[in-house]
Amino acid sequence: MLESNDVSVTMRILITGGAGFLGSHLCDRLIGEGHEVICLDNLFTGRRKNIAHLLDNPNFEFVRHDVIDPFKAEVDQIYNLACPASPPHYQYNAIKTIKTSVMGAINCLGLAKRVNARVFQASTSEVYGDPLVHPQTEDYWGNVNTLGVRSCYDEGKRCAETLFMDYHRQNDVEVRIVRIFNTYGPRMLADDGRVVSNFIVQALRGDDITIYGEGNQTRSFCFYSDLIEGFARLMNQDEVTGPINIGNPGEFTMLELAEKVIKLTKTKSKIIHLEMPQDDPKQRKPDISLAKKHLDWEPTVQLEEGLERTIAYFKSDLGL
Ligand code: NAD
Ligand code: UDP
Repeated sequence: MLESNDVSVTMRILITGGAGFLGSHLCDRLIGEGHEVICLDNLFTGRRKNIAHLLDNPNFEFVRHDVIDPFKAEVDQIYNLACPASPPHYQYNAIKTIKTSVMGAINCLGLAKRVNARVFQASTSEVYGDPLVHPQTEDYWGNVNTLGVRSCYDEGKRCAETLFMDYHRQNDVEVRIVRIFNTYGPRMLADDGRVVSNFIVQALRGDDITIYGEGNQTRSFCFYSDLIEGFARLMNQDEVTGPINIGNPGEFTMLELAEKVIKLTKTKSKIIHLEMPQDDPKQRKPDISLAKKHLDWEPTVQLEEGLERTIAYFKSDLGL
């Protein structure tokens, strides 16, 4: 068995959800480091285009598979990212979403136990629900509606965290849990439905920019490259299992975000206000003290720079 915490060693690594926005960037990083990567994805919100440049690489393998069904692979590490992340996509088939989180976690953990692999869970700031503690620290238990339209995602991810800690305590499985705060960047789908891609695509097409509610709700936006660096640092250290927050503490209202996108794209698009979705968290901002302390990690790309790079991507992706 290879020492799975030594990045200089070539490992065989499974990434579930590897053809998605974040998963495909993680594939790039790990292939770039010389590892063998198995990318497992059912292509629900992922796409072949995200990994097309890797398909001829002998160290890369794509497997079309659903994490709800068990899978086998002799691997040293597993990153579990399979799950739609955008509210319209995870609410499209809510039962499927919760199955993906819960059964996907069980299948990853069972495999990790059998082959003695370290396993990483892409959890989320949604475990804090509509938070009453601000900024959010990892010891906050959250304020989640168990019955609402977001619950399939939030409770699925919370249950996955529980399973990870239970396999760790009961079976000594080596786990790492990251709580990701809103992350954006190239390779998001134009019809993803999350706010950054929506605003940019609307601005580039000259369509109305759709703010839900008054636009006073806040989010903290992390550029994908910072997040992937955080993933690698958490996975390849021996001090902590997590959960650990990874996100950019810069906090913006949706109105401020819309104004920045309008300025950077120089669009003539107008802001319109639509109904606020049910249970939409009013505020969100990570406390990243633990990531700084244990991983020596903090974000380096601030919002305007990340937006500029994402706008350039969508211009090219959409041929605008
Ligand atoms: P994404 O939708 O682009 O990627 C998810 C990937 O999982 C897609 O490729 C999809 O096809 C695949 N997938 C979905 N269900 C599957 C199933 N049943 N079997 C196999 N594959 C399946 O989203 P993303 O932004 O890249 O998110 C990746 C992970 O990070 C998700 O688990 C998400 O919950 C988590 N996360 C992301 C953010 C963010 O802001 N980007 C925030 C919090 C958590
Ligand atoms: N939002 C918005 N317009 C959109 C899409 C989203 O105003 O076109 C808002 C949404 O109501 C939420 C915030 O932007 O308050 C972030 O939404 P997103 O779906 O990106 O992520 P999440 O709510 O899961 O953090």
